[in-house]
Amino acid sequence: MKIGIVGLGLIGGSLGLDLKAQGHEILGVSRQATTCQTALDKGVVDRASTDLSLLAAAEIVIICTPIGAIAPTLAKLVPHLQTETIVTDVGSVKQPIVEACTYLWSNFVGGHPMAGNTNQGIHAAQTKLFTGAAYVFTPTEKTPTALVEKLASLARSLDTITYICPPEVHDRAVAWISHLPVMVSASLIQSCLQESNSQVLQLAQKLASSGFCDTSRVGGGNPELGMMMAKYNRQALLRSLKQYRQNLDEIIIQIEQENWDNLEQVLEINQQARPKFLN
Ligand code: NAP
Repeated sequence: MKIGIVGLGLIGGSLGLDLKAQGHEILGVSRQATTCQTALDKGVVDRASTDLSLLAAAEIVIICTPIGAIAPTLAKLVPHLQTETIVTDVGSVKQPIVEACTYLWSNFVGGHPMAGNTNQGIHAAQTKLFTGAAYVFTPTEKTPTALVEKLASLARSLDTITYICPPEVHDRAVAWISHLPVMVSASLIQSCLQESNSQVLQLAQKLASSGFCDTSRVGGGNPELGMMMAKYNRQALLRSLKQYRQNLDEIIIQIEQENWDNLEQVLEINQQARPKFLN
């Protein structure tokens, strides 16, 4: 199949590597000519250009730009597409993207592969990034089922586990397990930096080990991505953040009041619940 990818960064580049390895012809478009050349050199794409007209022959186009550029990219892409071309995206937020993109192109299906890391750009592209990961598709009531099935089957060929749900349900779910953790983890790093004693701060930086590595990873990632999660999933994220703040306040009260039994009970409930999020 001829597959177009727009935005050759971590996600677009990694999709290109795996789909090309399966024998698909990958047509890549990115903003910078140097990125296109690197994508060709790394074997991410078969052909590359900064011009969206390269995608005129594509059967499926996957838009992998930053969230804010997805709908504007589709608007520029539409004049070049064949009527039957299926377009999807990989944005971490779905409702505003699905609304804007379905209006622009009826053969659009929102998508979100739940894999990534703290790196960005074409040099971060890697093989098998999506192996074992969830891949969510968010059709509307009007989306033809055949389009969703074609994309889900392509996603499953990358050894992902596919899920289908409405865009707004996706956005509330990822607010809890992806967008809230980014903000919590970012606040953790920020709080540590506010230690006023330089000797303590320097020692803390030397002693930080696997626990800090785990808890700070998502807060120390791509700043543009974190900002766009907040901007485009504002309501669901605020709802999750406020609940989190309430729980943190309750923990503070337990500690202030030396209510150790209650605190231990809360920690026990969480210890039992955690595996349900880790499949
Ligand atoms: P990234 O590594 O920064 O890649 C995005 C690429 O898009 C850049 O390399 C850039 O290429 C290109 N680009 C930027 N603006 C563009 C524009 N206006 N038109 C065309 N290309 C443009 O970011 P990413 O992590 O791959 O994220 C891309 C998308 O994947 C986002 O929508 C994000 O929500 C989603 N996502 C990310 C993760 C994650 O963990 N990182 C996980 C799942 C989904 P040039 O070098 O050519 O400028």
